[in-house]
Amino acid sequence: MLVTTKYLNSDLLMAPTKIVCVLRNYLEHAKELNSPVPEKVKFFLKPPSSLLANEGTVIIPDSVGSLHHEVELAVLIGKRGRFIPEDEVKDHVLAYTIMLDMTARDLQSNAKKAGLPWTEAKGYDTFAPFGPRAYPPGEFDWHDKRIWLDVNGERRQEGNTDEMLFSVERIISEVSEVMTIEPGDIFCTGTPPGVGAVRSGDKITAGIDGMEPLTVTVQ
Ligand code: MG
Repeated sequence: MLVTTKYLNSDLLMAPTKIVCVLRNYLEHAKELNSPVPEKVKFFLKPPSSLLANEGTVIIPDSVGSLHHEVELAVLIGKRGRFIPEDEVKDHVLAYTIMLDMTARDLQSNAKKAGLPWTEAKGYDTFAPFGPRAYPPGEFDWHDKRIWLDVNGERRQEGNTDEMLFSVERIISEVSEVMTIEPGDIFCTGTPPGVGAVRSGDKITAGIDGMEPLTVTVQ
């Protein structure tokens, strides 16, 4: 099991089979990367081996020249499903938490130009810090929440979950048309504007209204 009670509260804990990450779900972030906004939910997978607990250390690999932070609202799945209608997604959501979709931006840019997958750019160990607590739907409503990220105490990213182009319900419903959603799976719902590079020694703190913030250091 990748996740223990030391890092995430309660009994909401299961090892994910996959981490599903939505791309360009905030208009202002798509603009800052000069990327077109998709008409349907577009996504990629991060491996569960990229997970990192709160207060952990994000490692910048030697092969990466520019490691970017992306703060995202994460949704933990509690019940298996396929072809889930939007109005039934709530039956499959176990809890919400914070995740950082750490991205090797230089590798991603090269991959985009070459028409290659983003797996390396998104998939190194420690590239998915998350937590520190999981909030069941009864304790957390994902709408209209401020989402932010600081580096060394300086605000870098800020947005509101209501700015998401695709809702939590639409994301999970559309992805379930492609693949079976399993208990423990994690959905990352895209990042607000302000992404940028981190350096060795930086301290990242990320938060969403109503949640205890997530903190990691960079090495
Ligand atoms: Mg992302």
